Amino acid sequence: MSTNVTSTTGSALFSTIASNKVEELWASWYIYWGNDVLATGLLFFLVHEFMYFGRCLPWFIIDQIPYFNKYKIQPNKIPTNQQQWECFKAVLKSHFLVEALPIWLFHPICSQLKITYGVPFPSWKIQFAQIVFFFICEDLWHYSFHRLFHYGWFYKNIHKIHHKYAAPFGLAAEYAHPAEVMALGVGTVGFPILYAFLATKYASLPSIHLFTITLWIVLRLFQAVDSHSGYDFPWSLNKFFPLWAGAEHHDDHHHYFIGNYASSFRVWDWLLSTECGDLARVNRVKNANNKNEKKHKIGK
Ligand SMILES: [Zn+2]
Ligand SMILES: [Zn+2]
Repeated sequence: MSTNVTSTTGSALFSTIASNKVEELWASWYIYWGNDVLATGLLFFLVHEFMYFGRCLPWFIIDQIPYFNKYKIQPNKIPTNQQQWECFKAVLKSHFLVEALPIWLFHPICSQLKITYGVPFPSWKIQFAQIVFFFICEDLWHYSFHRLFHYGWFYKNIHKIHHKYAAPFGLAAEYAHPAEVMALGVGTVGFPILYAFLATKYASLPSIHLFTITLWIVLRLFQAVDSHSGYDFPWSLNKFFPLWAGAEHHDDHHHYFIGNYASSFRVWDWLLSTECGDLARVNRVKNANNKNEKKHKIGK
């Protein structure tokens, strides 16, 4: 069913057809506020708050239920309510002091780079391809900066805060120094901006829609919170898609303090021999021995 949406803001963007409920809601949001900069800023801020804390809530509840303890990666380290409360306050403060300002700058950037925000949205295939591209780029960005943050000065002065919890929990995902929040945040918002810039240069690239960027940010938030959840279930995504890092991968990072630097996938840690944990160490030694044996045989 299609719905006619007419803008009352004078913007031609919404004087068009919304073909589904989501598009209708999206258009109504912009029409309601009558100020596109305010509408985008508020949308990003609220989506971030609701999706982040909304995703943390089930993990907080699971922490209270002993049945789930068998799925906890570090079963003896259930976070206390006091720890979760302290973490919640610190993250909320950071959202207002560090992330609120850059969020309001997003709409002016969108206008400069011709990021569309009217309806209808692009096809789901285009949106899917763009989001996969952002996942791949962000993962490499995260790997590089996270690895850098584990070097001397950077660790001591910036990243140490995030490692306060050796057994992480959902809320701890964004518990970090402001410099880390900004540097890793560039990996999330920087690639859609770079993509939009390239799309203005190369006509063959489909343009990007603000809804796609919102969707990408939500998925990235879910990935960050879930990887800190501390739980690995038989139905977790990494059980069906082995390249996916999941909670097990990042929990080990917090447990061992070194290795497993990537965010979404296991590829970079595997390729660059930075996987952490006892099993990874055994496999590394085995691979090195195999290589030596092969060399030895060739030399004979
Ligand atoms: Zn780290
Ligand atoms: Zn972490």
